[in-house]
Amino acid sequence: MAGTLQAFDEPIYVTRPLLPSIDDYKGQLQEIWQSQWLTNVGAKHVALQDALANFFENENIALFNNGTTALFTACRAFRLSGEVITTPFTFPATPHVLSWNHITPVFADIDPLTMTLDPGKIEQLITDRTSAILAVHAYGIPCDVERIQSVADRYSLRVLYDAAHAFGARIEGRPVTDFGDATMLSFHATKLFHTAEGGALFVRDPLVKDRVDLLKNFGIKDELTVLMPGINGKLSELHAALGLLTLKMVAGERKNRQVVAEIYRSRLADIDGISVPNIRCGVENSYQNFPILIEDKHVTRDEVFEGLRQFNVFSRKYFYPLCSDYSCYRMLPSAHPSYLPIAHKVASQVLCLPFYGALKEDIVTRICDIIHYLVDK
Ligand SMILES: *Cc1c(COP(=O)(O)O)cnc(C)c1O
Repeated sequence: MAGTLQAFDEPIYVTRPLLPSIDDYKGQLQEIWQSQWLTNVGAKHVALQDALANFFENENIALFNNGTTALFTACRAFRLSGEVITTPFTFPATPHVLSWNHITPVFADIDPLTMTLDPGKIEQLITDRTSAILAVHAYGIPCDVERIQSVADRYSLRVLYDAAHAFGARIEGRPVTDFGDATMLSFHATKLFHTAEGGALFVRDPLVKDRVDLLKNFGIKDELTVLMPGINGKLSELHAALGLLTLKMVAGERKNRQVVAEIYRSRLADIDGISVPNIRCGVENSYQNFPILIEDKHVTRDEVFEGLRQFNVFSRKYFYPLCSDYSCYRMLPSAHPSYLPIAHKVASQVLCLPFYGALKEDIVTRICDIIHYLVDK
């Protein structure tokens, strides 16, 4: 088989950002130039916020300059302190926003099927210092929000979601942003919907939402009144304008990614030792990433990663290493590998394959053939 397989001439990266036509963006820029209004909640910001409120059927949205600031601000707005229970299987931003708020992240193990925080592992970690649960819809596969909420209710804890991957993901038909006390979205260029850099926060409680709006603008209430020590979390007009254009492309991109996902699924399904995470009944994935799990049977994950690279295909070991293994967190009692066996297993097996709508069918097929070859060789 290797004889017929050749490396790609051009590198195939794990993702590619949605880009509207440059002329459409120029049109947006012309309007911004005319208005001479570049930031501080201008017309583009208002228009994008309205469009997203409409998309998510939820008015309680605040736009941000990135997802990390949004989540950081949420911790402040809820006055979280002490300890927050979270997942080690995530991007560094998730535990970092806790650290920046002088909160200790407490890592709980993940569920092997959803790869998100295991609701059954939370309760044993709750102490009198615990103020919240911060869960992540990893890869856009929704958490078990019902069970997480029931643990939180029993102990009067806040529930925050990092939904950086979950734009368009749904649970029983409802957007993931309908669950928990607050949900963060990231609009980074690597995310399905993006504004190059950007983010948003959905907040259930209107009083906390008011605090979020103050905090993201230095705590300024009016020209003469600063109410609290805030931060600069504002999304600029240039970024908001880009978002207005990429938002129109999201539905088509999702459809194209579904096609890519189907090819991967059907072509990789019969490979012994490789599994594709199944989405459980009643939930809808956001199609942010396409992770596969490679059991150390015929070949290791690292061998597939390196092998793909030889063919000019750049997959990602995402999320590896676990956040609990970073030098800044590994001394925490909850970070010990013996408490996080599932997270360690998944992190050692997972590989995110190239995944974006513009990925042509024959390229996806060839990537699958290469994986077949790497496993069989
Ligand atoms: C991208 C990402 C973030 C950070 O979002 P930014 O908008 O880049 O600040 C946080 N959490 C997860 C899981 C992410 O993937």
